[in-house]
Amino acid sequence: MTVLALEIGSSRFAASRIADDVSTDDIVQIPIPPSGAWDRCREILLEAAGGAEVTALGIASAGPIDMTAGVVAPAEVPEWRTGFGIVQAAQKLFPSAEVRLAVDGVCLAVAEQAYGATGGVMDALAITVSTRIGGGVMVGGFTVVGRTGNAGNVGHVLVPGFDDRCVCGGRGCLEAVASGTSVVRWAREQGWAGTSVPQLVEAARVGEDIPAAALGRAGTALGSAIASAAALLDIDLVVLGGSLAEAGPVLWKPLNEAVATHARLSFLPGLRVVPSQLGDVALLAGAGVLALSAQSA
Ligand SMILES: [Zn+2]
Repeated sequence: MTVLALEIGSSRFAASRIADDVSTDDIVQIPIPPSGAWDRCREILLEAAGGAEVTALGIASAGPIDMTAGVVAPAEVPEWRTGFGIVQAAQKLFPSAEVRLAVDGVCLAVAEQAYGATGGVMDALAITVSTRIGGGVMVGGFTVVGRTGNAGNVGHVLVPGFDDRCVCGGRGCLEAVASGTSVVRWAREQGWAGTSVPQLVEAARVGEDIPAAALGRAGTALGSAIASAAALLDIDLVVLGGSLAEAGPVLWKPLNEAVATHARLSFLPGLRVVPSQLGDVALLAGAGVLALSAQSA
């Protein structure tokens, strides 16, 4: 029995063999290619499989997806923006495998529930904050996937006091303020000369005003959106993953202040926001849990 996980992330493709304890073996990863996306996925999947017959494959993808049709349409993969039938393609590659697809936020929620920060908690929200923002909801111990697989997409919750233009066509969405792409863009508009999230985080750490302000407004927006989502879903734990979640107090302080300001309902005082414990294997691990459950179903 060989179980694989595939991550269609916001900046990388990654594949790994999944052991019975859902640990990820050697991860094979590549930056998202400008073309030939499925061919490159195919290569890393075959490398991860190592010639073994694959019995289950879990796919974690940046959204949007259509879970019923087995289609992904992440903005980061130019040739897939109008939709790519990844489940069918994977099924053709591994004819004996059970293939499962879920959006990245759902995979983070599943992974954190299985062996991360929300283990044992029945009601939680998982948010990935990297190039883009994704989310996954767990209510009553069950993952909520929604009609098309995109439930929990907290990146397009509106945040008060912000009017930034969003890639979805709207304005004032959380993703337009707090994603890695958005904080870098905003900082550059204010005159900062850097180009990447790691540069921005480092500059904020050493006290540069513009990077600190960019992460500060991201933290405030995240805290506002989290308070709204917690009220909607009656949850008491939010786990934050992705590269921006590692930005430290410059992001977390305004985030927690915004949560304290807005989460005022009688059932929300215990609301906690914690960093993911799983680092960059979180999405693969979540996809692995899905694949293992498909295999045992
Ligand atoms: Zn939006």
